[in-house]
Amino acid sequence: MAERTPWSLSGALRGMFAKKTIDGETWEDLEDALIKADFGPNVTEVVVAELRAKVAKYNTTDPKDLQRMLREGIEERLSLLDSTLTLSERPAVVLVVGVNGVGKTTTIGKFAKFLNTYGRSVIVGAADTFRAGAVDQLATWAERAGAQIVKPQMVGQDPASVAFQTVEKAKNEGIEIVIIDTAGRLHTKGGLMDELTKIRRVVEKQAPIAEVLLVLDATTGQNGLAQAEAFIQHAGVTGLVLTKLDGSARGGFVLAVQERTGIPIKLVGQGEGINDLTGFTPHVFAQKLIG
Ligand code: GDP
Repeated sequence: MAERTPWSLSGALRGMFAKKTIDGETWEDLEDALIKADFGPNVTEVVVAELRAKVAKYNTTDPKDLQRMLREGIEERLSLLDSTLTLSERPAVVLVVGVNGVGKTTTIGKFAKFLNTYGRSVIVGAADTFRAGAVDQLATWAERAGAQIVKPQMVGQDPASVAFQTVEKAKNEGIEIVIIDTAGRLHTKGGLMDELTKIRRVVEKQAPIAEVLLVLDATTGQNGLAQAEAFIQHAGVTGLVLTKLDGSARGGFVLAVQERTGIPIKLVGQGEGINDLTGFTPHVFAQKLIG
């Protein structure tokens, strides 16, 4: 049996799937459960319509069939985009972007540890140079993860220069993966996007950028997505990291996010510990969500 998780839908749907037969209330109950789990109105409508059609086609009244079809439908939907991280370049440069507070620093720490566990050497660049606290926090995570770090020499140093030095050190020392932390202040959006563009330009002179990962907090739902719109439009995002899925009762957000952005989810954070980060596998996710 799949492990139960807080974002699992099976709790809400258990009563429905345990019924003897699919009945008049089934579709309304299903719709309610999907909306509550933050699938968003569009995905909910499509998923319910598809299921109704399938149930009619296969002429079944067994809720267990409905559960299986729902799980398979979700898996198929999530498999439309490729969740594989492309880290084959040497060095492979990963830019991590997102609004402050979503879990960017924590994710970088976990990701560095994850890569380190698989024998990859990692260097982290602290290019959020205006917040001294952010640099210290990142340094603590880097140490725990067994990664090197390049820090700014002073508060407010040009973030692009920190990124440049990090990639340069990686090239000189043969370090395989570079992870660059970036600022996430929302109030100066224009300035921040220009800053990210400059970081990209400077880094790309030295090495191709393998991934630009946008970190999103799953507990903020559609709101968080609206806040991250500028990154999606301007930062060349190649993959999403969903954090705090452990604290969210809304696992359906995963589908809503994918539908709204068209960007694959590549990593998932499910806790504050250093090992609480996994890759994203549609099959495993759908199984945990639906049961
Ligand atoms: P940043 O401002 O984006 O760098 O955010 P931080 O990395 O400092 O994280 C903000 C808070 O979210 C911290 O208290 C983290 O412990 C917490 N956090 C980050 N990722 C997760 C996660 O996957 N699950 C939970 N429960 N908390 C998380």
